[in-house]
Amino acid sequence: MASFSVRFLGCKVSHTDAHDVRERLLADGHAERAHDLGADVAVVNTCCVTHEAVRKSRQAATRAARTHRRVYVTGCAANLAGDEFAGLPANVTVVARRSEQTPDFVAGDVGALGCVQADARLDRVRAFVKIQDGCSFSCNFCVIPLVRGASRSRPAAAVLTEASRRVAQGHRELVLTGINLGCYRDRAGGYKLPRLVREVGAIPGLDRLRLSSIEVNHVDEELVAALRETPTVSRHLHVPLQSGDDGVLRDMARRYTSSTFLRRLEPLGDFNLTTDAIVGFPTESDAAFERTLAVIDAAGLTKVHVFPYSPRPGTVTAADDRVPATVKKERSARLRAASDSACLARWRGKVGSEDVVLVDRPGRGYGDDYSPWLVDAPVGELVRVRGAAVSEEGILAA
Ligand code: SF4
Repeated sequence: MASFSVRFLGCKVSHTDAHDVRERLLADGHAERAHDLGADVAVVNTCCVTHEAVRKSRQAATRAARTHRRVYVTGCAANLAGDEFAGLPANVTVVARRSEQTPDFVAGDVGALGCVQADARLDRVRAFVKIQDGCSFSCNFCVIPLVRGASRSRPAAAVLTEASRRVAQGHRELVLTGINLGCYRDRAGGYKLPRLVREVGAIPGLDRLRLSSIEVNHVDEELVAALRETPTVSRHLHVPLQSGDDGVLRDMARRYTSSTFLRRLEPLGDFNLTTDAIVGFPTESDAAFERTLAVIDAAGLTKVHVFPYSPRPGTVTAADDRVPATVKKERSARLRAASDSACLARWRGKVGSEDVVLVDRPGRGYGDDYSPWLVDAPVGELVRVRGAAVSEEGILAA
């Protein structure tokens, strides 16, 4: 038996990929330890969404190599063409494989010892269930199709089985994750995302269901109906905008205009809508950036995950990075400030009204629309609360 630790950098898909490796190692009889305690084996599931993400991934691998006998570097950055991890210590193995193959490869290398814990629980309250991987869109700035390959989906039967298992293990919330969820297809089973949402959402015992994120072109009548008509679905949707300027959207090859973005989200006006935005894309002028702020405001978006543009190897815009770093920094700060004030405004609207909060950490939880609440209740409980005031971290429960 080996001791091991797993950590991930980046998005929810990276999280589920890391957990797949973790589950596989637990199933093989290996013992998990906290990452900072050191162990025989470390798995670092990496991210390459920006240059900074790759730098942090490399740093995490270097640190792990000091405290672990063997380190496996997996995930997006491990699959980048180039030598991002060149020169790391000899005990580091870079696993440049698709996410589906990675758990078997790592487990095979560590050495299986027999199945003793096939039902390892991942997290006390929330579980991420991957339904799809890869992307067949080709946004000009994005390295994901290069490192994760084309879109492919898990069979609905496998998703429903895993989701039921997670609920039986006691998870109260499930998050369906994928790189481009709207591309979900199980042709043999006759499923697209809306049907899957309805069926996962109807699993007895499940309290909450969310989607990790969805491209705006996939927000159609059928999906909106599934979200609205499934009682367990949270009133929250994360829809990447990237830019509010039509010229920049075209240069990014994003397949929609700002008016399409606004029109598609109109039926979800009561949802808490969050987004991603890139600042400092090569063709983003000051005026274009102002249009991004305006669209965020007009769409009623709250939390904005801001990504200062950084050219990624192998992409169409790999050689183009003409917006100065100081401008990116200033635009990032303005966007984050707009996001903070939009969040505060939404939270203030809840003062005096009731919500049902799922407590996922000591003192904290999320309401029905995924707004953060500060509550005093046991982790794992769903509690009815009334908003008393607002702080910078969320809504204070009375
Ligand atoms: S939709 Fe575009 S930004 Fe999103 S993963 Fe696919 S290529 Fe990248």
